[in-house]
Amino acid sequence: MTGALTRALTPLPSGAVIGILGGGQLGRLLALAAGQLGFDVHIYCPEENCPAARVSAHATVAAYDDKAALAAFAAQCDIVTYEFENVPAQTVAEIERAGAEVRPNARALESSQDRLAEKTFLNGIGIPTVAFAALETGADLEAALAGFGGKGLLKTRRDGYDGKGQIRLSADGHAMPDAMSLIDARPCLLEAFAPFEREISVIVARGANLAGEIETLVFDPSENLHEDGILKRALVPANVPSAIADQARAAGTKLAEALDYIGVLAIEFFVMPDGALLANEFAPRVHNSGHWTPDACLTGQFEQHIRAIAGWPLGPVTRICDAEMDNLLGEEITQIPSAFPADTKFVPYGKTEPRPGRKMAHITRRLPPKNR
Ligand code: AMP
Repeated sequence: MTGALTRALTPLPSGAVIGILGGGQLGRLLALAAGQLGFDVHIYCPEENCPAARVSAHATVAAYDDKAALAAFAAQCDIVTYEFENVPAQTVAEIERAGAEVRPNARALESSQDRLAEKTFLNGIGIPTVAFAALETGADLEAALAGFGGKGLLKTRRDGYDGKGQIRLSADGHAMPDAMSLIDARPCLLEAFAPFEREISVIVARGANLAGEIETLVFDPSENLHEDGILKRALVPANVPSAIADQARAAGTKLAEALDYIGVLAIEFFVMPDGALLANEFAPRVHNSGHWTPDACLTGQFEQHIRAIAGWPLGPVTRICDAEMDNLLGEEITQIPSAFPADTKFVPYGKTEPRPGRKMAHITRRLPPKNR
């Protein structure tokens, strides 16, 4: 789908410097894709020796509120992006003040950082979510729980990811003391429990096309399996009717356009037993559920994000095979065989400490297409 040109995207020349806030595996895979397109990458990350900095031309190790370091970083970058959505809004403001443009824009970051703002925004543009209630006090929690049939998920409004900062509440009430302490400590919201049939997501790219117009392209939806709130597997194609896949694509397109987005984003959904599609959350960045795209599509999500923010035409998102992507968490990385069949891609992140639950690598298997 193409839209009116909201602003000119002047293509960055080869050799230009792309700044990335954050230094984890997403930054590393973005940096490797940027390198293949002829760009140099400058990683800004508070930790020494992070996975992304080790494959990048430049690195700044400094706190996200270090104004001098941010100004120096901005001066060295032709465009700045981010690899995680909890970058403080102030950090982006400092970089913009120092004269560098940040893509995707601050609006996308702000709406995704706060679960209440995120769900309100999604509902406001006609994308349904689970029912939710903002909570100030324990009494609010009790009232909201009663409204949701005694069950729900208590989540911190900010800084939650991979199931962190969440408490599952059921009618037996045994988690209520923990829930009350969490509400006292942090702004929270309660979500109705979604008895979903499966979870899917789409990766959406918005950027220039060959004619210089802004266009939105959406990868095929993946079906996502989580364990303890952490993504474990992504499968394509997702086992959903084409009408649901189309609805997911349409919602992703609507979201990217409503945010006037440039870059790649992901939106996750619950597929309900009656076929309804409810958005869970979106991430204004490349996403773990899109790690299969470089191996199964003509353009992968990392290259696509770099193309979009650099003002280059997006690549085609055509899928050329089916795929299964598995995350390797913690010690699982030590159990992998040393050789893989030709249809299997092993992507380690260069992390040296395999802490429990830590994302260390992923494996993508390419499978012959079944559904075509
Ligand atoms: P989140 O960090 O919000 O993406 O949650 C991580 C995972 O927890 C999701 O992918 C779901 O598997 C599960 N989950 C989150 N919210 C809900 C909900 N309202 N109802 C049922 N399961 C949920």
